Amino acid sequence: MYSQVSSGCPGSPYSTCIRSTKYNQYESIALPIIKFLEEKGVVFQKNCAVTDVKLIDKSAKKQVSQLTFLSKENTNVIEVEKNDLVFLSLGSMVADYSVGSMDNSPPKKSLSKSVSWDLWEKTAQISPEFGNPSVFNKNIEKTKWTAFTVTFSDPLFFDLLQTITKRKAGEEGPVTIIDSNWLISFAVPNQPHFIGQPENLQFLWGYGLNTDKTGNFINKKMSDCGGREILIEIVKHLGFDEHLDKIIDSANSIPCTMPYITSQFMPRKIGDRPQIVPQISENFAFIGQYCEIPQDIVFTLEYSVRSSQIAVNSILKTGRKPTPIYLGRRNPKHVFNIIRTAFR
Ligand SMILES: Cc1cc2nc3c(=O)[nH]c(=O)nc-3n(C[C@H](O)[C@H](O)[C@H](O)COP(=O)(O)OP(=O)(O)OC[C@H]3O[C@@H](n4cnc5c(N)ncnc54)[C@H](O)[C@@H]3O)c2cc1C
Repeated sequence: MYSQVSSGCPGSPYSTCIRSTKYNQYESIALPIIKFLEEKGVVFQKNCAVTDVKLIDKSAKKQVSQLTFLSKENTNVIEVEKNDLVFLSLGSMVADYSVGSMDNSPPKKSLSKSVSWDLWEKTAQISPEFGNPSVFNKNIEKTKWTAFTVTFSDPLFFDLLQTITKRKAGEEGPVTIIDSNWLISFAVPNQPHFIGQPENLQFLWGYGLNTDKTGNFINKKMSDCGGREILIEIVKHLGFDEHLDKIIDSANSIPCTMPYITSQFMPRKIGDRPQIVPQISENFAFIGQYCEIPQDIVFTLEYSVRSSQIAVNSILKTGRKPTPIYLGRRNPKHVFNIIRTAFR
């Protein structure tokens, strides 16, 4: 059995009220912003890992005075000047991801020393105001998922999907296969999803939350599967068995393990996430998924964007407010629809 849920419009099975970008978020949001900033003279240094942040005492406050980063295996230092401001992205939901192929599962990784988590761990030792990363990054059995993409060179799968959803592919919202041992969900984004995507190709992505359970049809853990096996499992759940060979022949399915992808949802107490601008900050702020924004919803791009808005507005005293948080749970219609969907 499959069900359709839609994060943007609780209770509605369709994605008509999800705000989607034209292409993927990187090409629709990040690239234009990068271009805009480069035109303003911003310099992006790529392939660098910030490995250390030096803080010095300034009265009762702390001031970032130096950043150390690795680039092409060389250690470099940036001296932070009097009027400089530092915005630090803490942790990472995609740290240490590993990619498989149609016939190979993603390589396994154990607890990591990725730069993003490592930097937060080092920084957190300086002050209790800087949060507690171990709450989020020490339990990858609970925080991992296996994601996958599928690229089809034949419209058959999308055509069959439309016969179930009765919607044009891309309008049906995320589909969750609720009987799936792996608890698979997948989403068909607007096509084309990538700039320059050839017209004959179609693309979807999805994930399974129970990656260490055996599948209903494939007698393996999802984390041990290549893309072919994951796609077979989906096709069988959807009842497209008679078309299996043709679907598989036209597909390229790539699995990807992400050890920290749901780490933001780990149980936490007040103080485990630092304030965006800690009280002792003289010239720095924290941004990203792991700083404190009361009432906001983690995982979303909005959360990270809002953290940056708050950081910049506070530290530069712009007097501007961040984009308001949408509190859907205060809308009785949504609450009713959520309850109805949960029990249908
Ligand atoms: C498969 C998938 C699907 C998603 N779907 C959606 C969706 O539909 N809607 C939605 O709203 N959100 C979605 N998200 C979440 C969204 O992508 C994230 O919330 C967002 O990208 C977080 O932005 P960020 O800038 O905080 O972190 P990131 O995008 O991870 O960017 C942080 C950057 O900082 C760099 N960095 C970190 N530490 C260091 C360091 N020490 N030195 C140097 N560089 C460093 C990283 O390499 C990275 O480039 C999805 C995420 C995934 C993985």
